[in-house]
Amino acid sequence: MSFLQTLLRDAKARLRSENYRCTPQREVILELLVRHSRNHFTAEEIHQWLRGEHPHLGLSTVYRTLTVLEHVGLIRRLDVGDGVARYEFDEDDSAPHCHLVCVRCGEVRDIACPAPQEMQGLLEAESFHVMDYSMSFFGLCGQCSEHANGNAREESVRGDVSGRRSGEATG
Ligand SMILES: [Zn+2]
Ligand SMILES: [Zn+2]
Repeated sequence: MSFLQTLLRDAKARLRSENYRCTPQREVILELLVRHSRNHFTAEEIHQWLRGEHPHLGLSTVYRTLTVLEHVGLIRRLDVGDGVARYEFDEDDSAPHCHLVCVRCGEVRDIACPAPQEMQGLLEAESFHVMDYSMSFFGLCGQCSEHANGNAREESVRGDVSGRRSGEATG
């Protein structure tokens, strides 16, 4: 049994242990999230990805299924501040991670994010037991910042040209 199949089998067992039936709809959505565990899907994206193979899977079913999967702790909901919930498979033994959110193309990437030592001291002082945490960094991904730099260079070139032209006109 492959690693993927083991994850999927355990996930289905969890669903049943929480008294949820493992319906075909739940199974395909779960499988998508397990297979692409690095992705952060919106409900619409899940719907689009599965529409080809499962034309009868409605968007409202996707929403309902995601609520169930989140409720039993199989998936994690992520809010990056744009009002659209994103979901990722939440492996039992995975270390908490942070997110790099590109404000231009919307890419969300995982990055290992150990709790800083100073933070642990503060939390202990509050006698607060942390079960989970999340942190997001907002900015431009490598591709977008390259693109942005390229545009900035072009604009400065264009600016020079028009400057020279207006200079010529007055002179
Ligand atoms: Zn980007
Ligand atoms: Zn993530």
